[in-house]
Amino acid sequence: MSNTGKKCVVIHNGSWQTVAGFSNRETPQCVIPSSYIQRDGQREAQIFGTFEMLDETQENDPNSNVYTIIDSRGLPYNWEALESQWRYIYEKQLQIDPSELPLIISVPASSSEVDMKIVHKYFELAFEKLRVPTLQIVVEPLAIALSMSKSSALVIDIGARECKITPVIDGTVVKSGVMKSKFAGDFLDFQVTELLKDRLPPAESSCQMWYNSQTWIQQFKNTMLQVCDRNLVEVQRLHEEQSNQLQPVGFQQFTSNSLTQPKNFLLKTANGSKQTISVELKDCLKLPEYLFQPQLSNKDFPSSDGLCELMSKSIRKTGATVSSLGTPSGGGNGASLTLNEKGGASSASMGGTTSKNANTATNASNPTNAPSSGISPEQVYSILLTNVIITGSTSLLQGMEQRIVNELSIRFPQYKLTTYANQILMDRKIQSWIAMSSMSNLPSWELGKWFSASDYEFVKNCAKR
Ligand code: ATP
Repeated sequence: MSNTGKKCVVIHNGSWQTVAGFSNRETPQCVIPSSYIQRDGQREAQIFGTFEMLDETQENDPNSNVYTIIDSRGLPYNWEALESQWRYIYEKQLQIDPSELPLIISVPASSSEVDMKIVHKYFELAFEKLRVPTLQIVVEPLAIALSMSKSSALVIDIGARECKITPVIDGTVVKSGVMKSKFAGDFLDFQVTELLKDRLPPAESSCQMWYNSQTWIQQFKNTMLQVCDRNLVEVQRLHEEQSNQLQPVGFQQFTSNSLTQPKNFLLKTANGSKQTISVELKDCLKLPEYLFQPQLSNKDFPSSDGLCELMSKSIRKTGATVSSLGTPSGGGNGASLTLNEKGGASSASMGGTTSKNANTATNASNPTNAPSSGISPEQVYSILLTNVIITGSTSLLQGMEQRIVNELSIRFPQYKLTTYANQILMDRKIQSWIAMSSMSNLPSWELGKWFSASDYEFVKNCAKR
């Protein structure tokens, strides 16, 4: 089934935020939390939408609680709430009936068994409950890569619940190379609260916790936290050595450990009180370092879940899989794509580029034409490293891109490295939605299959037999 040129509704349900709008508009109609407030015992009293939820939180009803819709793998688990959220989006934000326009939604790259169950649930919701005419389900990191005119890329998505690394080769997600860890935005929220727990009253309800993470914790991460450009432990050791060296009288102030410098943050809480909080620079660097070295926050956390290890493992596994199979394994079909300017126009501007001693194969200079057979692991490394896409709102932490470049350069020193990260703050936050919207506008978009209610009936009948 084709849907060329038709306006669609595009909904992206992330674990933290949901973005929805029309495919023929450059910006979405709404960016709302992927959670809702429910007053105890009142099923009908579900409150969706950022401002509605903020107002409800400020009223401070002790019987209200915040519930989530999406689980830690980025998939819905609370289907009733998802239905209510979509109804709210259609009615209040888009102001159309769901039966009027085709719908595009996203799923994260994950294992196929879970996918089929989830797809079935999505069909039920879209066709049976909302009566959507046609539905397309796109794989989020694939849409991001293709919308940036890249049929091969390493997509690093640092979001709220998860940090996901997805290798895409020749328009196909290489499932064996998909790496995930829980060390992302929500983990940082917890660490910020822990850091400041002695200076703040504890959050007593889930509403208060939600309010904090939507307001001051996000500002704190944005303005105070800083990713160190290399391993923080080494930097700290260096600073300590320097400050321990004997200095001439009168010069100590210039050589004192700069990591102990204070940084100030003006904190405004839900009850309107204001307080200036002073934190040492080393604490502002320490928290984001946990994303790279989780074992520093708790020795029980495996170092293999750190971002550097995940990136390295993903690249090496993809190299091994693609070269051994000849074609990438996993879902999707392996067609090579050349995207039109629409996909390119919405693509991100270039972030940092580090050129290295290029000991690379010839096709590496033209990574989008990568052959899908007879390819060596080194060629795969080269293709991925020249197309590193950094996305997800937690990647907006100061210094994140530079650190990723530095870590990849250390691990793959002989390869040319190019990273792409959208420099427009708001666009990075809604990059998945922009990518899905771009995909729906492509006239030659053949990877995206449109499903109708009759397809759903067919799937149901097959399942019964
Ligand atoms: P996921 O990818 O886990 O499904 P998502 O796509 O819904 O999540 P994102 O918008 O990618 O979520 O990331 C949300 C996280 O990014 C939250 O933890 C939020 O606090 C954090 N965040 C938002 N803006 C910034 C910023 N400017 N600096 C640092 N962190 C930020």
